[in-house]
Amino acid sequence: MELLKQSIFQAIDEESEELEELSKEIWQKPELNFEEHYAHEKLTNFLESKGFNVTQKFVLETGFKAEVGTGKNQPNIAIICEYDALPEIGHACGHNLIAEAGVAAGLGIKAAMEKMEKPCGRITVLGTPAEEGGGGKIDMIKAGVFDDIDVAMMVHPSPKTSSHVSLTAIDRVTVKYIGKAAHAAVYPWNGVNALDAAVLCYQTVSCLRQQMKPTWRVHGIIKNGGIKSNIIPDLSELEYSYRAPNKQELDQLKVKMRSCFDSAATGTGCQVSYDFSSKPYLNLVSNYRMADAFRSNAESLGVTFDAKEDEIGGSSDMGNVSQIVPSIHPLYNIDTIHGNHTKDFTTASGDPKAQLHTLNQAKAMALTCLDILTDENLLKEIRDEFAVFKQNSQ
Ligand SMILES: [Zn+2]
Ligand SMILES: [Zn+2]
Repeated sequence: MELLKQSIFQAIDEESEELEELSKEIWQKPELNFEEHYAHEKLTNFLESKGFNVTQKFVLETGFKAEVGTGKNQPNIAIICEYDALPEIGHACGHNLIAEAGVAAGLGIKAAMEKMEKPCGRITVLGTPAEEGGGGKIDMIKAGVFDDIDVAMMVHPSPKTSSHVSLTAIDRVTVKYIGKAAHAAVYPWNGVNALDAAVLCYQTVSCLRQQMKPTWRVHGIIKNGGIKSNIIPDLSELEYSYRAPNKQELDQLKVKMRSCFDSAATGTGCQVSYDFSSKPYLNLVSNYRMADAFRSNAESLGVTFDAKEDEIGGSSDMGNVSQIVPSIHPLYNIDTIHGNHTKDFTTASGDPKAQLHTLNQAKAMALTCLDILTDENLLKEIRDEFAVFKQNSQ
C-alpha cells in the first residue's frame, strides 16, 4: 500500500510544473459557460498525452471524459473537473485550479493502478462545463453520463477548508411586468407603470425576508426599469436567485415568491410573467464516509481543516450529481482571506501560492480513490450511507 501511495505522490510531483502551466493557461484565458473551448482543448490534449483514453466534446461541445483502468463489476470513480469563468472578473471562482486538481488526481491514481497486480476498477476524469449558472452537469446527468459511475469527487478552492460543506439548492427566475406607456406629465393617468410594479415586487420580497427561515436566501436586481423619465415605463424586468437547504423548501419559497410577483401586478394593473430556470441546482449531499476518508488522507499530507465544517456555502450543479451518486465536494483554502467571485479571488487563483494546496488536494483525492478501489468495506459503507439518504428522500 505504501508503495502505491508513493507512486501517486511521485506521479503528481513529477508533473507539477506542467500542471501549474496548464492551470495558468486556463486562468489567463477565462471562458464563460459552454464556451470553454480553449480549456477543453488544453485539458484533453494533456490527458491524452499522459495515456488516458479521451473522448472530446463528450455530451456537450466543451465536455470531455478521460478514462483509465478496467475491471468488470468493479467501481468506476468520477473525478470532476470544472473550468468555466465569470463575466468580467475571470477565474474568480478558481475553476482553473479545480481542473488542475482533477487532472493531477487522475495522473496520481493512474500511476498507482499501473503498479497493482490485478485490475481493480476504473477512473473517469470528467470535464463538466458551465458550473456558473449553465448547469452542465445537469445536461450530463440527463444524458446518462453518471449511470455507470459509482462515486464522484471534486475539490473547490475557497478561503476555507472543509471536507463537507453545505451547498444549498438554488433556482433563478426572471419576472417581467408589462404596463402601458404614456406621457408622464401630460397624460400620466393613461399609463400603467411597470416600474412601480418592479419596485413593489422588490419591496414585497424584502418584506417576505422577515418571515423566511435563516437558511433561505433571496437576492435580486432590477434589470430594466424604463427608458426615459418623461415616459411612464411599459416594461420592467427583475432577476432573482433564491436558495434553500433542499428542494422541498425551495418549492415552498417559490410559492411565496410567486405571491409577491403577483401582488405587485395586481396593485399596479400590470401584467406579469415569470420564467423560472429549467435547471435548478439541488443541494449538495456530502457522503460523510467518503468525506472522512478524504479528510484523513488530506490530514496525512499536512492539510488542516477549519473548525466549523458545516457552514453554508453557495450552490453548485455538483449538488445534482450528489443526489444520484455518492459524492464529495470539499473546499480548500488557497492562501487567501478573500471570498470567491471577487477580483481578489481571481488574483489568488492565479497565484503560485495556490499550487501547493491544489496538488495536496489532488493527492488526497487520488489516495481516496486508492482507498475505494482497494477496500471493499469502504465502498460498501459509502453505498450504505447513500442508500439511507435515498430512502429518506422518497
Ligand atoms: Zn462560483
Ligand atoms: Zn465555483
